[in-house]
Amino acid sequence: MAREIPDFHGPHIEPPLPGHFKLTWHEPTNRVARIRVVSHTCECRRTTYELCSAAGQGFVRRTDREKRTVHETSWTLSAAARHTFEQILRGEAR
Ligand SMILES: [Zn+2]
Repeated sequence: MAREIPDFHGPHIEPPLPGHFKLTWHEPTNRVARIRVVSHTCECRRTTYELCSAAGQGFVRRTDREKRTVHETSWTLSAAARHTFEQILRGEAR
């Protein structure tokens, strides 16, 4: 596979590490109309993760394109959501 340009394709996530933190995934809440995607993982993978920002809060959205399911983490401070997104990228949380 060609070396990717992170800003265009988004990074690839690492496989989950042994003993990784298990996030709680909820049904999407749709509590605000406008959700901004701050960052997302590469769309060549079956499951994509997006760091989202809405109403001054942040959360991570997980989309499984094969099963056509969408889930999201609890809404929290933007910095905490970014931390969670980075943990997912590194395989430390899933
Ligand atoms: Zn890719």
